[in-house]
Amino acid sequence: MIEDNLNRIKSELPSGVKLVAVSKFHPLEAILEAYQAGQTVFGENRPQELFAKAQAFEQWLRGRKSDVRAIPLEGAQGVRTKDEFDAVEWHFLGHLQTNKLKMVLPYATLVQSVDSVHLLEAIDNWGSANDKVISVLLELHIGAEETKQGFHEEEILDILFHAGDYKFIRFCGLMGMASHTDDQEVINADFERIDTFMAYLVDLFPELKDFNQLSIGMSDDWRIAVQHGSTMVRIGTAIFGAREY
Ligand SMILES: *Cc1c(COP(=O)(O)O)cnc(C)c1O
Repeated sequence: MIEDNLNRIKSELPSGVKLVAVSKFHPLEAILEAYQAGQTVFGENRPQELFAKAQAFEQWLRGRKSDVRAIPLEGAQGVRTKDEFDAVEWHFLGHLQTNKLKMVLPYATLVQSVDSVHLLEAIDNWGSANDKVISVLLELHIGAEETKQGFHEEEILDILFHAGDYKFIRFCGLMGMASHTDDQEVINADFERIDTFMAYLVDLFPELKDFNQLSIGMSDDWRIAVQHGSTMVRIGTAIFGAREY
């Protein structure tokens, strides 16, 4: 079922849009099923859970490795090594407290949910101490909900004007969540706003070479998001089914 869901989504997803399979609250078995169906990018929103799953996955991989032969690729790339073939990306999508960085940053390929300067500074400090540049997206508040996390436009501008101060941060783009509603017009307007702002930032900060990712679109609204410049969709329920909290 997971494989069917993945294939259905991938057949509709424009090429160039990355699919992040949001595996939060689902067991490792579900991740393995998706992985064996070819999915290599997973999203988690709780530090402890990302940490535990990343470790369990590595362990599973190590146990399986002896069976895997190097897989020859066509073209100039030659033969992909076992390690490269097995690489998965873990993306962190949730609220990140600074005392949990050590559970997340060693494993996360991308922290999509940076929503405060305090967090940004803490990540930069962790990167400095561990000699690792951390890739992040800045979360823009676009939905109608009061409580929804994220920066306002002016705050993001302010951060990016000082991007050079964060030596251990790679600014890769924006993440946003549309209003929680069935009203397609509202969702359209939310995504339109973040897409426009993204284009404005890319123009304004040409020196930020990696600032090119727009992470918008979830199970119920990703089709709308890809019409508004999404480069990365984060889909959970439509792949793994309903979550049991
Ligand atoms: C849970 C979550 C998703 C996936 O939501 P679905 O509706 O299950 O696709 C995407 N993005 C973030 C930030 C999430 O927390």
